[in-house]
Amino acid sequence: MRIECIAIGTELLTTRRLDTNSVWLGERLAALGLGFHRKTAVGDSREDLAALFREAMGRSDIILTTGGLGPTFDDFTKELFAELLGADLVEDARSRADMLDFYAARNRTPPQVNFKQALIPVGAEPLRNLVGTAPGVWWQDPPGHPGVRIVMMPGVPREMKRMWEEHVEPRLAVLAGEAVHTLRMVVAGVPESNLDERTRAVREQHGHLDWTILASLTQVELLARGSDPADLVAARAAFEPVLGPDLVSVGDSNLEDAVLAELQTRGQTLAVAESMTGGLLASRLTAIPGASCAFLGGATVYTLAAKVALLGLDPAWLQEVGTVSEACASGLAEAARQRLGATWGVGICGNAGPGAEGEAPVGAVFIAIAGPAGTTLKAHRLAGDRAEIQLRTTALALDLLRRAIVHPAPSR
Ligand code: AMP
Ligand code: MG
Repeated sequence: MRIECIAIGTELLTTRRLDTNSVWLGERLAALGLGFHRKTAVGDSREDLAALFREAMGRSDIILTTGGLGPTFDDFTKELFAELLGADLVEDARSRADMLDFYAARNRTPPQVNFKQALIPVGAEPLRNLVGTAPGVWWQDPPGHPGVRIVMMPGVPREMKRMWEEHVEPRLAVLAGEAVHTLRMVVAGVPESNLDERTRAVREQHGHLDWTILASLTQVELLARGSDPADLVAARAAFEPVLGPDLVSVGDSNLEDAVLAELQTRGQTLAVAESMTGGLLASRLTAIPGASCAFLGGATVYTLAAKVALLGLDPAWLQEVGTVSEACASGLAEAARQRLGATWGVGICGNAGPGAEGEAPVGAVFIAIAGPAGTTLKAHRLAGDRAEIQLRTTALALDLLRRAIVHPAPSR
């Protein structure tokens, strides 16, 4: 079953709008055990679309389009398919009635241009849209293309999703293959290439699964997909010893969820003092509902004055050790821990750049974890722009904290 997606709209080719529809549809297909063999984003150009539609009808069994069903001059997905396939467009009475109802419910009458939305190619079926005005189209076995299904959906993500759920997925589910299950393992503190190498042998032993390694600024994900859940259980068991303490979590959770869960299991608490990350670590933790089970709070102590006023650090000492230093990071961590009476304190300082090097080079980062058995320190030199350095720093801090919680031995 070859399925392709065509996302239509000139705005999708610029930075003004991201094509989120095809990503969402890809996920929904995967849940049915189906997937795209290709997807394309195309502008509102008759020429480009006509060429693509012809190619798609020649190579795919199912063509899913989104966009171009609106009332304006740049919406012509339906008209173009009808033209290419030599089919007439006729008004669908229920689509017209739905549209009139839609406007009536808002005390308005539809502008004349809107009536073209109720036109449906002869031989195709309208798909009702009760949250917008453009119906979709399900066109099975269009003229000259037996076995092909063309499915046209609106571009507005909310309308497209509703239509998919109500009308498209039920029809495709009948054609679906086996359900696909996913094993997701989150790893931190290991570069992608290292992970690739370290896990190669185990991945090869479980080679009937479909493997992906996805690296982001904050973590690396190892994904395995397969149709038999038992295969995924076996793969997980094989990976756990290989990944050891680098394995953060299995399933949907990320670094911050894992840290909060480890704290909560142990009845422990956390306080933070952030300089160069400006509260980003606290923000990542508080993005998780129920974070107060373990996260007490913290301070954004960006300047020397703030470090003194909010944490009671000695200004002369700070000046002597420098505000971008290991000593400063541990001072922050210990003060946060003490002031809030937390089990753990995290201190972060560094230089996120850009521009002139201050006390320390751009990318220099110091993270300290103060805990019951002492303080753990880590220095890094990070590459990237300011936002990247700040985000990576929060991930490194979370991972250092996680390791300290799980393997509570101070190390330097
Ligand atoms: P249209 O159906 O082409 O009139 O699109 C209606 C609205 O949905 C516009 O605001 C589009 O920018 C938006 N839209 C269209 N296609 C997509 C897509 N693939 N992903 C996200 N938004 C989209
Ligand atoms: Mg459009």
